[in-house]
Amino acid sequence: MKYGIISDIHGNLESLLAITPYLLDVDKIVVLGDIVGYGPMPNECCEHVRKFNPIVIAGNHDLAAISRKDINWFNPFARQAIEWTQKNLTLENKEWLARLPLKLKVNNFIFVHGSLRNNYTDEYIFKEREALASLSLLNNEILFVGHTHVPYFFFLKNNIIYGKMLLENDVISVSSKNIINPGSVGQPRDFIPKASFGILDDKRKKFRLFRVSYNIKRTQELMRNRNLPEHLIKRLEMGR
Ligand code: ZN
Repeated sequence: MKYGIISDIHGNLESLLAITPYLLDVDKIVVLGDIVGYGPMPNECCEHVRKFNPIVIAGNHDLAAISRKDINWFNPFARQAIEWTQKNLTLENKEWLARLPLKLKVNNFIFVHGSLRNNYTDEYIFKEREALASLSLLNNEILFVGHTHVPYFFFLKNNIIYGKMLLENDVISVSSKNIINPGSVGQPRDFIPKASFGILDDKRKKFRLFRVSYNIKRTQELMRNRNLPEHLIKRLEMGR
């Protein structure tokens, strides 16, 4: 079975549309949260994601957008975008976000937005130290996370944990006790301004990272029209 693994769309419909053709032949799409927040098209992104009939969990921005998380937790730019998102999300999309679980286990895979600690949505797994804390809570599963917006792979070798940033077209062999982050569709932060996601082939036990260019200018225009913070507009073209 082939899984399309996507995360952190953040209301960026242009980037979501750009990756969609790559997902046509996967059997199941998994969305690791943060469908909304930051970007100008949160409703359209919710509706597009639902068409995938995906496995989907909530991220910290999704919770904030439905007032389930204190927005003072966020930096001022993110907060401003969340307030805009709260005002503009339809009731239908709010209700849908409210129904999303924070953690799902499917076969040998566990899906969360942040990590296995701190309500699943808060902690960032940037480095080996945080990865180890979540790894110690796994049995033999493979953990998929988003939240950092940086595609990354953690694995054990001789009981030592190693982390490695994933680059475009990297193919990794997947085994139990790995942690995989597919990066961000809608707001990459590894200085590469292309939408990031991955495809997992669970029969061949391979995960491949994809990067796809999208119409950044169009998303930026929409953000300006909606008076979203200039800092959030600029960071898209810098990929940070
Ligand atoms: Zn995010």
